[in-house]
Amino acid sequence: MNPDLVIRNARVLTCDPSRFGLGMVDRGAIAIRAGVIEWVGPDADRPGATRVVDAGGRLVTPGLVDCHTHAIFAGDRANEFAMRAAGKTYLEIAAAGGGIGATLGPTRAATDETLVALLLARLDLALAAGTTTMEIKSGYDLTVAGELRLLRCIAAAGRRPAPRIVPTLLAHLVPPERKADRSAYIIELRDQLIPQVATDKLAASVDIYCDEGAFTLAETRSILGAAKIAGLPVRGHVGQFTDLGAAELLADLAALSADHLEQITDRGIEQLASAGVVAVMLPGACVQLRLPVPPVEKLRAAGVLMAIASDLNPGSSYCEQLPLQMWLATTHYGMTVEEAWLGVTRHAAKALGLPTGGTLQADVQADLIVWACDDPATVPYRYGAASSLIESVYVGGVRCGMAVS
Ligand SMILES: [Zn+2]
Repeated sequence: MNPDLVIRNARVLTCDPSRFGLGMVDRGAIAIRAGVIEWVGPDADRPGATRVVDAGGRLVTPGLVDCHTHAIFAGDRANEFAMRAAGKTYLEIAAAGGGIGATLGPTRAATDETLVALLLARLDLALAAGTTTMEIKSGYDLTVAGELRLLRCIAAAGRRPAPRIVPTLLAHLVPPERKADRSAYIIELRDQLIPQVATDKLAASVDIYCDEGAFTLAETRSILGAAKIAGLPVRGHVGQFTDLGAAELLADLAALSADHLEQITDRGIEQLASAGVVAVMLPGACVQLRLPVPPVEKLRAAGVLMAIASDLNPGSSYCEQLPLQMWLATTHYGMTVEEAWLGVTRHAAKALGLPTGGTLQADVQADLIVWACDDPATVPYRYGAASSLIESVYVGGVRCGMAVS
């Protein structure tokens, strides 16, 4: 029986780990059946199909995977952006009522319908820029009931076929009203929230913000320990401002990823490498907060896999577009074009615990992009132009309605 669809006459960037580098198949073709890739190979060997799309020699890549976002929130913090641009410090902005706390009020006050509508609008923008899988964290309510509500709203938005959603429970901060009984709050997270999330299957992993002003290393160990007991994989925001030793802890816990890493020791890097923990680079937030660049050369030399994500959030990176992050990663972080592509495809999928995601190979979901260019470097090079560079996006072998032509 013929495949449902063959995309032919394409430069297929497979990201297939069994091929060299980006796994480019020049003059290639892809056969798809029932939403899954059945075959990838030379155009000359392509099978017949019910429907054939001629890509005209253009680039075809895996759909992009955004493995770190805080896409569910209400309100915005444009005022903080303006203050930062005018040279105000983090502490001055916090004293003026800024920071994560400024998003808690509007998010808690928003109805489910509003939160889902806001999230769907952001998902549309991400999809238009090529994101076919998006991780979304809770973390802007910080009460047990409120965090469960955010995860249910994420699940509601995830009923749409594209992009695919991977939900994460994020222990973001101790909320201002619980500062006086901090240890009781942590016990609530450990003994109520995490087990409930696991029972209701509301999140695929548990994330934590371990840094100065957020959770300590001991609190992180306790909360992530509860996640492991509940059977949930773990990951962490670590070393954005201060290295508290959380990279080493995440390596011990065989975490999926360690994210940010502006501050990390050589020992932390070695341990991430030997434990196979993906380092998630978040250049948008790094640039906006004027932080030092993570040690990309050392991570590369140690063999740590690097992913790149948007960190979409209202405070430090209000951006849905992964190709813009690829530009920042190449120009500001010193990553190569090849690293940038693997960072938003195969390595990002690994950071989400999706071992064959972000690749074009047999038996993988047919999530792919037909670009309006033929050179992989064009995507970060023409930064800000993602939507016009995308010819069409397919999720599960179905062309999404946002296509340009
Ligand atoms: Zn984040």
